[in-house]
Amino acid sequence: MGSLAAQWPPSDARRTGNAEMIDFLNTAPPPSSVSVDPQTELDKSDSRCGAFRTIAIQYAPGQPDPWIQRKLAVFICFGLGVWSFYVVVGRVCTPMIQRRSSTGYSRGIGAGTLVIFVVLWLMFGWSYLKMIMTGPGFAKQHVPSTITPSLFSPPSVDLVPYSTFTQNPGDGVQPSHRHDIGSDALGPDPSEFAPVRNVVADLLQRTISNQPSSSATLPVRSQAEGKKRADWRTIERPVPQIEVGPRWCRFCKINKPDRTHHCRHCGTCILQFDHHCLWIGQCVGWANHKFFIIFNFWAMTFTLFLLIFLCVVTANASTVDGQVIGLLAVSALFALFTSMMLFTHIHLILTGRSTVESFKGRDQHEQESAILQREFGLIGHYSDKRKVLARWKEEWGGSQVDARWRFGSKVAMWRQEMGLSWAGWIFPIGRPLGDGLHFDSNPRFGPNGEWLKRKDWPKGVV
Ligand SMILES: [Zn+2]
Ligand SMILES: [Zn+2]
Repeated sequence: MGSLAAQWPPSDARRTGNAEMIDFLNTAPPPSSVSVDPQTELDKSDSRCGAFRTIAIQYAPGQPDPWIQRKLAVFICFGLGVWSFYVVVGRVCTPMIQRRSSTGYSRGIGAGTLVIFVVLWLMFGWSYLKMIMTGPGFAKQHVPSTITPSLFSPPSVDLVPYSTFTQNPGDGVQPSHRHDIGSDALGPDPSEFAPVRNVVADLLQRTISNQPSSSATLPVRSQAEGKKRADWRTIERPVPQIEVGPRWCRFCKINKPDRTHHCRHCGTCILQFDHHCLWIGQCVGWANHKFFIIFNFWAMTFTLFLLIFLCVVTANASTVDGQVIGLLAVSALFALFTSMMLFTHIHLILTGRSTVESFKGRDQHEQESAILQREFGLIGHYSDKRKVLARWKEEWGGSQVDARWRFGSKVAMWRQEMGLSWAGWIFPIGRPLGDGLHFDSNPRFGPNGEWLKRKDWPKGVV
């Protein structure tokens, strides 16, 4: 790992570009000193005492959540796994094999389903164990700690994601050191459902922008603000500003590599942070994202099998078993959850984004919708809205704002995350490519992550 550490930070100490969700969250004003030790801060407060003070320390910025809180769901998953084995083997299949099942199914059906169940249960258990035992990649193990940067400029552009609606590439690029400041800057905290929600919002956005025009039936003046409707040719696209300089984490005291974020639950910086997963008790990041995909695949297969099998058994049984019904309900819940996670994360991999990075696309959509609504009103003028969106798409060549790390073909991006061997795509073996610190950058972005118009793309890029 020494060689990796030697490569970081870059010699010119410039931020190599990255303006992701965490950059949008630094909403608190900068303190006089960014080197705040949570323990010291708590020592200042004499009003706290006893248990409250202990809790305050445990939840202090930069500290991981209590171990039992982080791992509780893991024990629940283990319990559900053992319970599913008991119900299916002990209460469903064994009676079939002993020819005393109320379903009337034969010994052969009982033995066959038992074998399928045990194989799927073992695959589910193996992939889950691999998932919880493989760390996401901790930046502190790869990046040397550095002293508090002396340069600091207030994070003016952090107050809102898009402080200006126009930006020429290169303009607005301010040399500064970036800090995670204040409670909002402990790190992004996307929920498990965040990527699913983003995909749905994306689809809704496209549906709305494809609505048939009704402008002929509406007045020319914007109903929203009562002003003259803008010319669609003059409306500028909102573009996020970019800052230059290392992103320094005050908790880990390191310059964060690209795509690294500080997890507020684990209390440390995670390489290619995706999200903190309750069900595995740790983060999903660079080193274990592939196992997350594989686990979701086997969990989905396992729970779908349970769902179908137990539905058939219940429909044909003359007596109702409460535990079978209970397992049926739990299986349905987890089948839905894991299938949504699986397909959403495959989509994210093929578009070169992590969960937290996909927020940038969502924010862009919101900003663009706000502009169109401001100029044309919430309802109507769909023709003009479509013309504006088409013009923006033309100017940016269809490049997405959150495609900073989309590089190469879909197959290449899949291999980057899942490894080269197809066996490692199905079974929880192997490792991702690369080192989690350096990533190929989309040439449609500038060296600091500026989202470039098509005219500014390097020669040969289409
Ligand atoms: Zn950190
Ligand atoms: Zn975490």
